[in-house]
Amino acid sequence: MAFDIEMIKDVYQRFETRIDAARKSVGKPLTLTEKILYAHLWKGETKTAYQRGQDYVDFAPDRVAMQDATAQMALLQFMQAGKPQVAVPSTVHCDHLIQAKIGADADLEIANEQNREVYDFLSSVSNKYGIGFWKPGAGIIHQVVLENYAFPGGMMIGTDSHTPNAGGLGMVAIGVGGADACDVMAGLPWELKFPKLIGVKLTGKLSGWTSAKDVILKVAGILTVKGGTGAIVEYFGEGAQSLSATGKGTICNMGAEIGATTSIFGYDEKAEAYLRGTDRSDVADLANQIKQHLTGDAEVYANPEAYFDQVIEINLSELEPHVNGPFTPDLAWPISKFAEAVKENNWPDKLEVGLIGSCTNSSYEDISRAASLAQQAVDKDLQVQSEYTVTPGSELVRFTIERDGFLNTFEKIGGTVLANACGPCIGQWARHGADKKEKNSIVTSFNRNFAKRNDGNPNTHAFVASPEITTALAIAGKLSFNPLTDTLTNTKGEQVKLDEPSGLELPTKGFAVEDAGYQAPAVDGDSVQVIVSPDSDRLQLLEPFKPWNGQDLTNMVLLIKAKGKCTTDHISMAGPWLKYRGHLDNISNNMLIGAINFVNDKADTVKNQLTGEYGAVPATQRAYKAAGIDSIVVGDENYGEGSSREHAAMEPRHLGVRVILVKSFARIHETNLKKQGMLGITFDDPNDYDLVQEDDRIDVIGLTDFAVGKPLTVVLNHADGTKDSFPVNHTYNEQQIEWFKAGGALNIIRQNQG
Ligand code: SF4
Repeated sequence: MAFDIEMIKDVYQRFETRIDAARKSVGKPLTLTEKILYAHLWKGETKTAYQRGQDYVDFAPDRVAMQDATAQMALLQFMQAGKPQVAVPSTVHCDHLIQAKIGADADLEIANEQNREVYDFLSSVSNKYGIGFWKPGAGIIHQVVLENYAFPGGMMIGTDSHTPNAGGLGMVAIGVGGADACDVMAGLPWELKFPKLIGVKLTGKLSGWTSAKDVILKVAGILTVKGGTGAIVEYFGEGAQSLSATGKGTICNMGAEIGATTSIFGYDEKAEAYLRGTDRSDVADLANQIKQHLTGDAEVYANPEAYFDQVIEINLSELEPHVNGPFTPDLAWPISKFAEAVKENNWPDKLEVGLIGSCTNSSYEDISRAASLAQQAVDKDLQVQSEYTVTPGSELVRFTIERDGFLNTFEKIGGTVLANACGPCIGQWARHGADKKEKNSIVTSFNRNFAKRNDGNPNTHAFVASPEITTALAIAGKLSFNPLTDTLTNTKGEQVKLDEPSGLELPTKGFAVEDAGYQAPAVDGDSVQVIVSPDSDRLQLLEPFKPWNGQDLTNMVLLIKAKGKCTTDHISMAGPWLKYRGHLDNISNNMLIGAINFVNDKADTVKNQLTGEYGAVPATQRAYKAAGIDSIVVGDENYGEGSSREHAAMEPRHLGVRVILVKSFARIHETNLKKQGMLGITFDDPNDYDLVQEDDRIDVIGLTDFAVGKPLTVVLNHADGTKDSFPVNHTYNEQQIEWFKAGGALNIIRQNQG
């Protein structure tokens, strides 16, 4: 059920030839990252050595994973491709929409009720198109992937930023937007700028209170939230081999917080043990046969500076436990300095809640080590001072830790076990009193701690630490407690000290589960009906966009000339709008509402050229669409930076905007626009941006002769009768020009289906 062994055999069979070819073309020994990337080139073997940080390369990922929030639009789009089945093994995981309020069972029941239509849709569409479906309560996407699908040397994409978690088992696993997932499921290549490589050499061995989480907390402090941008982080060294596979998963997971494309560890005995422990001895046997290809070449690790763009070295024997935060994951404090920092910065010392688990830190090892501390609290008569919650990452883990008595131990100290879902990690936390916006502190073993992320309160000071440190601080009830040095007063008035945590990487009795929550797809999905209620306000089947009519675009009105930063959040705001991710028409009511109009410096206030009145952007555009008038959006530098959210391209397309003309594009957004059949063009001279006036009627000339590398012309017909005209550039290749003409990439795939 869980993975496709034939697919893995296929991947491994081509490894040797492809890696040999790559080694020849690159002309030197290879890192593990390069081996996996070159083994997954779309076009197979290559004689080309790609330039890191420069060349855009097409890859053929082995798998796709989607979480329930982002899967909706990815799958609605996939349905447009007209394919009978997904082209690569794919899975959907229902984890983001479950709110943590009372406890696992009650919360799950409420979620099933509230999200029924979304779950029904995801379940039926998965069933139809050959996609594995993990029901609500089955677990969090990345934990489930690590337990079932990740394999050494593989390459996957996932519609979630913490997809790199699978790097713990040696997979190049990258977070993407729904449009990319749709492409790969439809059998298209996936494009990535060939990444730069950061090597992290781990020496020594963890001991005592320090855990794998502290490695990434330390790395985040060194590299900061931007330091990994455009790079894959490869860990190696004897210290790396001493870490459990799930500990490696934690490190790779949180690598998203330094902006890294992904992070990865090589295949070793720990990976093998985890594969065997999770019922995948057949994968381990296959991996053992090509072991030498599942790690970087020896010369690389012996002299890393010659092969990586940047090298960091960390001695695990000297690494202290860390607490990072508040409000940013790269503010790294070794525990010995943290109490002082709390005092100096006047952060609330009282710890309100300690939260452990999530996709980042809910392995058997994490839970058993945290439980060893909880047991000490019981044995040493300590009254736990903070609220305490436990979020298991999967039903497999939850069932096993219940069997082994750990959940009972957590309950003994007053802990609440939440559903196997994202919950408080993504703000799905009905935290009592959060609406009062009081200044307070929480510590989590999650990965992100930006303001408002967990409970919506901007004054919640959220810190990130290992499950062990989170548990110790929750027992103490204060941030300034250092469990390595400090004592606590127990209920008998005695001073007691917590001993170092202890735990097991894998359960001695093996993992167990009664119902993992998996639904296999129908063998033949032909007759399966996709369930979407026509009056749903959360889901809407997509209609194909209309093809280009073969004419130049003329007499367009200016919808908005956006000033300054215009990110995907300005174009398609998140927050409450996320509810409508699966309903293009409803979510389009947030189109560009965050963009600042250059005329009045206001957001969501533009002139309606039909009435002369100022109004909201989406309503104004709807009026143009109803009147059959084309429109254009003008923007500044790096338009569309931020996330890969495809809604930012689909909404203008849906509401009838024809052109986005900017000084420069963020590349992913530019590609998304092209995929949707939009025209995205850039000023040849950025100063021409200043020529655009509010009441202009605008033409784009030259489309009848649309060709690669050939500039187009924009004519501004000003209200006073004067004109300006200037060249504009585009980056459409031949295939993308076809997308434009057909009205979108999916229209072409569908046409090719026949
Ligand atoms: Fe994302 Fe948190 Fe869910 Fe992990 S637990 S997938 S980080 S929301």
